[in-house]
This record gives sequence, structure tokens and C-alpha cells, in this order.
Amino acid sequence: MTSEPDLARRKDYARLSIRFALVHLSISPLILILLLFLEGHGALARVSYGAFVIPWKEIIRALVVVWSSLLVPKLVLKFIKGYRIEHAFGLSRETFRAWAKRTTKAELISFIFFLTVFGTVAALRLYDPEGWWISSSVLAILFFIILGKLVPKLILPLFYKTEPLEQETLIQWLKETCRNTHIRPLPLFSIKLGKETRKANAAVMGWGKARRMLISDTLLEGFELDEIKTVMAHELGHHKHRDFLVQLLFASCGTAMLLYMTHRLLTLFLSGGGPPTPAREILLLLLLVDILSVLTSPLMNAISRALERRADRFALAFTQMPQAMRTAFEKLARLNMADPSPARWHVWLFYDHPPIHERIQAAVEREHA
Ligand SMILES: [Zn+2]
Repeated sequence: MTSEPDLARRKDYARLSIRFALVHLSISPLILILLLFLEGHGALARVSYGAFVIPWKEIIRALVVVWSSLLVPKLVLKFIKGYRIEHAFGLSRETFRAWAKRTTKAELISFIFFLTVFGTVAALRLYDPEGWWISSSVLAILFFIILGKLVPKLILPLFYKTEPLEQETLIQWLKETCRNTHIRPLPLFSIKLGKETRKANAAVMGWGKARRMLISDTLLEGFELDEIKTVMAHELGHHKHRDFLVQLLFASCGTAMLLYMTHRLLTLFLSGGGPPTPAREILLLLLLVDILSVLTSPLMNAISRALERRADRFALAFTQMPQAMRTAFEKLARLNMADPSPARWHVWLFYDHPPIHERIQAAVEREHA
């Protein structure tokens, strides 16, 4: 049973997490608006450009200004939420040094992605002011596909150690399950989260040969065999239903829609006033992408929650162990400090998984069926 102080603590943690998520959402639009204001007053260079000359220097300068203006507030937020609060609630085991090293790596990678992605988009827009959103969408889809290959083998190992799982019982169980359900077998890896956090997790990631199932060491250590099997069955559900492909499809359509709306609004905003500068165009473009992504995130989250529910149903039907699934969810809720009763708008805006009490409830209903 979960005791009352434990529930209250989970509630406190959830409240703080939502507050930080909201600040995080608003920081980037606010800074972009501020930069646009400064740019309007000539504080950023005002350089006009020829029709087919791409002003790379201007583009890169504008992107570096945006990225560095966002860096300090983002680092402060990351430190308070990702380090101080995680320690205060006993979730993190990371030293400050390890946290700083991991954050530096993450920021460097995000800088490279930010510069490449938005540098290309800005250049495409200057080169082809009408059709840029189509070529950018095609490139974005290619980028998602390449990321599916890169993340498990190149990017994830930069942050966490992963190695082939050694538990023979689990390997055999997975092999047999794949055979019985006619699913292509998956390699099984353990991911070492235990040094940093108490939180437990599992996932299926990657395309083709890079595809693998990952189970955290914290889950392997703290859960019973049947509980681990139900978590693995949930992940197999994603694999069987090709949820990765479904998500790629929705992300691709979503990106194309978002870029089209950005294009229309950008044309509208830039139609008045003097000749636009690359800096002004880039700032507006980033601001619109930012706001529109927040507006479309409830839809993407709702799709993700539906896929998660389907994977839960598969795991329940396949394992026939609703009790083990219920206790697994209860342990996950305690370890990850899941909000026991999140407000509807929190779920709507931030949750890509159904709230844990709903998942527990589904297992309980199955138990009594
Ligand atoms: Zn899942």
C-alpha cells in the first residue's frame, strides 16, 4: 500500500515539475520576442540580401545569438529542476560533476542540431520563399529516420552505458514470446541508470538492425521476474504494432502542417514594414515554430497516450498476469514519483503516457474480470 506522506510527496514533486515545465515552455518564446524587439530597434545588424545569395554569416550569427540568449536561463532551470529538486526528492544519485558533464554534452549536441536544422530551414526559406516549407518537411522526415538509426548506437551511449542483457531467463522468455506471437526477435540490452537515478524505465528504440529493447538496471534490480515480464510485454506491444512507424508518420504529417502554418503566418507578419532582414525572419520563424509546437503538442501527446494504452492492453492479454502488471505500475509510480492524481490539463499538455492511476485501474479491472 502507498502511505499518505508518500502520496503527498509525489503530489509536491508533480506540482514542482509542472511549474518548471511551464516556465520551460515560455522561456524560448519570451526571449525570441525580446530579441525581435531589440532587432526592431537596430540592436541586431540590419543587412539586406540579394534574391539568390544566402547570407550564411547573418543566418549563423542570428542563430548563435538566439541559442546563447537561451543558454543561461535554460541552464538555471536545468540545474534547479534536474539537479536540486531531483536530489531534494531523493530521485537523483548524481554528483554535481557528473551532472555538469552530462549537461555540457547535451547542450553541445543540441547546439549542433539547432544550428544544422534551423540554418538549413532559414537558407531554404531565403532561397525559395514560397516552397521552403515543402523541402524543409522532406528534410525533417529524413532527419527523423536518420535519428532513429543514430540514437541507439551513437547518441544514447554518449550519456548512458548500455550492454547486452545477461539474465538467461529473460532472454529465453523474450525469444519464446517473439516466436509465439510471430514477432521479429529483438536484441535485449540493459541500460545503466542506477548511478544517476532511482527512476526505472524500459523502451524499444531504433530502426532495422539498430532496433533493440532497453531495460534499466534500476528496473531489473527492484522488480520481481513477473513484473519485469509485463514491462517487457508492454514494450513488445509497441514493437508488434509498429508504433515507431506510426509515430514517424504522425510526426512527419505534424511537421509538414506546422511548417505550412509557419509559412502562412510568416508571410502575413512580414508583409507590412520595410524589407525584412535575415535576423528578423529567423527570429519570427523560430517564434512561430515554438508557439505552434506547443499548440500541437496536445494532439501528439494524445496519439502517444493511445499507443501506450494499446501496448498495455497487449501486455495484459498476452501475459495474463494483471496482478504482476498492477504491482509493476505501483512500483514505477513510487520510484518515478508519478503524480497520483494529475489535473486534466496537465495530462492534456504534458503527458505522453496515460496517468499511472489509469494504467493501474486497467490492470485491476482485468484482475477482477
Ligand atoms: Zn510504452
